[in-house]
Amino acid sequence: MTDDASCDFLVKIVIIGDSGVGKTNLMTRFTKNEFLGDSKSTIGVEFARHLITLPNNKKVLAQIWDTAGQERFRALGPNFYRGAKGSICVYNITNLDSFNNVERWITEFNKHAESNPMSILLGNKCDLEDMRAVTTAQGTSFAEKNNMLFMETSAKQSTNVTSAFESLLIRITDNM
Ligand code: GDP
Ligand code: MG
Repeated sequence: MTDDASCDFLVKIVIIGDSGVGKTNLMTRFTKNEFLGDSKSTIGVEFARHLITLPNNKKVLAQIWDTAGQERFRALGPNFYRGAKGSICVYNITNLDSFNNVERWITEFNKHAESNPMSILLGNKCDLEDMRAVTTAQGTSFAEKNNMLFMETSAKQSTNVTSAFESLLIRITDNM
């Protein structure tokens, strides 16, 4: 169990993006260092908590909300976003549709979240370079235009996952 009293900040972040891009696996890689593979059986898990000491020594209890599969039905209500200080907005580098939908996700997030929220855009499944459908430049350019951080990640190979969460949490807590 994590102890709320031992942290400097409690930060709610949400993970958004199309179904199948790897949101649940990014969360479990970050919080438990596990890759579940097909995570459909975890439907119903609403959020995970993870206590982390950032490179700047701030202790942060991250409360990370996952969509638990409702994204297929566009049924994420305002409660999902309420109080969120940041988002992890994910697409799959092998799926152009998932990248094209990022705009919709981030607009929805900005509408419902705390004022002045921070977001990071993640191009996940970067281990599947042979099947790439979205260039790194496309990701960078979208992120710059929308004032987001950007990284390519692999939940499978554990590439950039911790640094992605940490970068977002540093950005958020710098403004708290
Ligand atoms: P979600 O619907 O966005 O929560 O996506 P999941 O985390 O359930 O992952 C969907 C599928 O993509 C699963 O079959 C995972 O095994 C796979 N997957 C997730 N992340 C990666 C990754 O980084 N690389 C590869 N190759 N597959 C991944
Ligand atoms: Mg999921």
